[in-house]
Amino acid sequence: MNSLIQHLEILSNAPGVSGDETEVRRAIRPLLEGQIDDLKIDAVGNLITHKAGTGTSSLRVLITAHMDEVGLMVVGHTSDGGLRVETVGGIPSRLLPGLTVRVGQAALPGVIGLKAVHRTDTATRRKATDIGQLAVDVGASSRDEAERLAPVGTTMVFATRFQTLGESCLGKAFDDRAGCAALIGLLRAERFPFDVFGAFTVQEEVGLRGAQVAAYTVKPDVAIALEGTLADDLPKEEPDVSPTTEVGKGPAITVMDRSYITPPRLLRHFVRVAEAEGFPYQFKQPGIGGTDAGGIHRTRAGVPSITIAVPCRYIHSPVSLLNADDLSGLVELVNTAVRQISRDRILVDQSSFAQESW
Ligand SMILES: [Zn+2]
Repeated sequence: MNSLIQHLEILSNAPGVSGDETEVRRAIRPLLEGQIDDLKIDAVGNLITHKAGTGTSSLRVLITAHMDEVGLMVVGHTSDGGLRVETVGGIPSRLLPGLTVRVGQAALPGVIGLKAVHRTDTATRRKATDIGQLAVDVGASSRDEAERLAPVGTTMVFATRFQTLGESCLGKAFDDRAGCAALIGLLRAERFPFDVFGAFTVQEEVGLRGAQVAAYTVKPDVAIALEGTLADDLPKEEPDVSPTTEVGKGPAITVMDRSYITPPRLLRHFVRVAEAEGFPYQFKQPGIGGTDAGGIHRTRAGVPSITIAVPCRYIHSPVSLLNADDLSGLVELVNTAVRQISRDRILVDQSSFAQESW
């Protein structure tokens, strides 16, 4: 197994619901040992790393991946010892009944309780259960015990463990631990011509929050967000439906999503590099989802930003699936394209605009 997949395994298994990313941050740190020049945690919990450049260029390049994952949070307790929960980030509640979870720092095993099928009428069996009717069972027999084991605010993740199946990897939270593994891969590569700031951000799933703070601190000239994005290529509905992305067809470049539009110059740069090097790539269907680039591009005086993602099936569910070559392809494309970034290739041509007569 290559180091990229080993890192993905460590990161996928770590719990890190939005706002509670400590364990992911802890898991990342040793993987960067000796590979970077500086590392700090900011006030909201972003892990911001600095890899000094060779000095050939004065650009400041920010590369981000978000540490947080969607999950559940305890919001109350029932008299019989159940945990009332609310979703953090986008999880459809129809997915939840019967799943196993790991609760809190102690990783207590729990199950999202549901009424036995034997005691459910046909109409109810066919309906999705509202999250307000579910309770997580951690074996507590009273409200007091439940409160002690998992106080309000405790987060929980799906109890999935990482596995490989040929070229496929299966695990939870590939959105965005795949991006985190890729960012670690880039920070372990040789020095870039300019300073690279690798930011492992918090709270993307609840509104691209950490990345905006990180971009304000770093003051980048350009930013690249690395993601695990949705691949809805299976099950196929109709042959002519365009999937958002497809597994096994290379990293996906965002042209536009609901949070931002990639500046044409930056987009052309990445496509040109992929074409010239013969790297596989695909475009993500425009208009779907949002990423940290959406938060970053409008910090300070504006930052040209782009998102490159690994296609992952079944994101925001207990298990996602990705292709190992798509992940290594992402690192290869970004590593090569970022090294060739120059001011005139990425920035709006402000000087020639200034010279034009009114
Ligand atoms: Zn994401």
